[in-house]
Amino acid sequence: MVEKKSSNIHKTEGEVSFQDRCDNLGQIGQVLWFTGLSGSGKSTIAIALEKELTAQGKAVYRLDGDNIRSGLNQDLGFSPADRNENIRRVAEVAALMKDAGLIVLVSFISPYQEKRDFARKLVGDQYFHEIYVKADVATCEERDPKGLYEKARRGEIEDFTGVSAPYEEPEDPELVLDTEELSVSECVERVKNLVVPGSLTNFDNLS
Ligand code: ADP
Repeated sequence: MVEKKSSNIHKTEGEVSFQDRCDNLGQIGQVLWFTGLSGSGKSTIAIALEKELTAQGKAVYRLDGDNIRSGLNQDLGFSPADRNENIRRVAEVAALMKDAGLIVLVSFISPYQEKRDFARKLVGDQYFHEIYVKADVATCEERDPKGLYEKARRGEIEDFTGVSAPYEEPEDPELVLDTEELSVSECVERVKNLVVPGSLTNFDNLS
């Protein structure tokens, strides 16, 4: 838990609701939370999905681990405490973006179930989809798109998920994408089947 350092904080309520914002955009703000090992395919799938949904006229925004770590979270490393703070901040940002009516694609390793549950609670269960992008360590290591596994095995990176830090598999995800079996476009299709068409534009169709 992060220590609260400010008091005398009073939240303000505006006169525009979440539903008003969603109605203007013609969609329902929601969060698709991709979790999995480095190299499992989170970014690749989120990038392809972002392209398709944007081409369909949806307002989509992608939050990606490395991008956020190079800005907002540049003060954080990979210790358990820093990983938790990394995800706490991203969950807060994703919840704000969802509240703005956006479809938010979050691709972070997010190795701890407790933190993913925190994000779900913050965003709201019906607007949160936990998507497990599944590939075993050996496969990810073979792909090694950023050369990180090689560095981790050489001891040049500490606390590397799957090598020297734990990954907790999702307990009850809305969707599992086995990227050893499915192509990128099949993965995108499965995600779209989860959230489109009804649930993106009609509150009644949300689970
Ligand atoms: P992550 O964001 O999880 O760290 P990346 O998306 O950066 O992973 O890298 C995943 C790698 O796996 C890419 O080189 C991608 O081309 C490859 N890959 C192979 N099959 C798939 C698939 N079905 N889905 C996603 N990526 C795949």
